[in-house]
Amino acid sequence: MHSFYETVFLGGGISCLAAARDFRGDSILVEREDRVGGLCRTERVRGFAFDRTGHLLHLRDKRIERLVGTLLEGNLVSRIRDSWIYSHGVYTRYPFQSNFFGLPPEVAAECLLGVIQAQRARRPHKNFAEWVLSTFGEGVARHFMFPYNQKLWTVSPRVLTTEWMGRFVPRPDLKKVIAGALSDAHDDVGYNACFLYPERGGIESLVKALAANVKKTVCGVGVTRIDLNKRRLTLQTGDRIGFGRLVSCAPLPELVKMTRPVPDRVRAAARKLRWSSVYNLNLGIRGTETDRHWVYVPEDRYTVYRFGYASNFSDRTAPRGKVNVYTEVAYSRQRPLRRQGIRSRVILDLLRIGAIRSKQDVLVIQENDLKYAYAIYDRNRSRAVSTCLRFFESRDIYPVGRYGRWEYGTMEDALLQGLDTAKRLKKVTFQ
Ligand SMILES: Cc1cc2nc3c(=O)[nH]c(=O)nc-3n(C[C@H](O)[C@H](O)[C@H](O)COP(=O)(O)OP(=O)(O)OC[C@H]3O[C@@H](n4cnc5c(N)ncnc54)[C@H](O)[C@@H]3O)c2cc1C
Repeated sequence: MHSFYETVFLGGGISCLAAARDFRGDSILVEREDRVGGLCRTERVRGFAFDRTGHLLHLRDKRIERLVGTLLEGNLVSRIRDSWIYSHGVYTRYPFQSNFFGLPPEVAAECLLGVIQAQRARRPHKNFAEWVLSTFGEGVARHFMFPYNQKLWTVSPRVLTTEWMGRFVPRPDLKKVIAGALSDAHDDVGYNACFLYPERGGIESLVKALAANVKKTVCGVGVTRIDLNKRRLTLQTGDRIGFGRLVSCAPLPELVKMTRPVPDRVRAAARKLRWSSVYNLNLGIRGTETDRHWVYVPEDRYTVYRFGYASNFSDRTAPRGKVNVYTEVAYSRQRPLRRQGIRSRVILDLLRIGAIRSKQDVLVIQENDLKYAYAIYDRNRSRAVSTCLRFFESRDIYPVGRYGRWEYGTMEDALLQGLDTAKRLKKVTFQ
């Protein structure tokens, strides 16, 4: 290995891969795991292709549409979302806030009345919980928004700000809400109404296509130390690499921890960053006919907050006649995961919901622990993130990606940040 590279890419997430692929100058990409891809890797087990939970491409940006189109030419399927909520023992359509049809009548009435009252008297809000109450009212808050978000983020909705919502929380108008309470009004609301997915190879086929044109990659060696004074990285093996500039998709708190010297105010900022993790159990099952793509499960009596059918994204993710199911359970320091018996509890959830008929139908199990899943948007996040990012960028270290920038970003966002970073690197020649 050289002892110096003009640019080092730390981590093989799709953000760094997109940056490295486009940059192509004197550079190397260093990945801790045995292969690149981060959250977008796919595991093959007995004919099933298991992603690290559902990973669908919701594209809005023309550059990314072109990039993905080129990378996955002839290997993309397009789907119209078929997603649901399971609560009160019934399935209702997503988004909950405009589809009360099918709920027990008293619950539907409570939700509808709440929306009407809230819209009459919009109140100012200081956090996500207050925003929900002022936008959708008590019923939607009680039956979906509060329990679901508490489960996903593992903190009270009062702790969350509204900065993360953007396109992720649809705000249908009253007309749509009323229509969706009176009939099964199938309407394509929200950012994820359509999506793309690789026909073959799971989401990792995108990673493989990206990685094919990266100049130089080493896998299986993590970076343990970044010495800013000597502009040098230390790897797990003890090897060292000098660098001019660094692009990192490692989680921001870890980047701070491995860097020396770092001012106290930056360390203090990094200590304020909180996150939730996801335990992902994937199942290869026999039978069960459904066209559903994924299902939100707000009620606390179920462990999972969401599950879905990867074989309905592409039937090539399962052997013929079999079904590929993914499930997600969120946990964190504030809501620890009870690991003992977790597989059985998840399977029991699916049995109670009726998503699987019998334990004997479970043919294959594969599990993933996603240590960093959701950066928690509390009142400290925004300032703490800018303090860290400003510090690193002033030292020619560019954090990218969902955990590098500590945000609620999609694959499209990660790819865009990669392309923008490559452009920035190309513009300024390294001295
Ligand atoms: C539950 C869940 C569901 C999601 N579903 C979707 C979806 O449907 N659609 C969508 O668009 N997005 C989805 N996402 C978001 C998507 O996964 C991310 O936006 C994207 O994968 C982020 O890529 P990244 O480049 O930021 O890095 P990551 O995938 O986080 O990769 C970081 C890489 O850096 C490596 N690394 C870390 N530290 C070191 C070190 N010290 N040395 C060397 N290497 C290191 C890691 O091993 C890893 O390979 C989902 C995310 C989660 C958690």
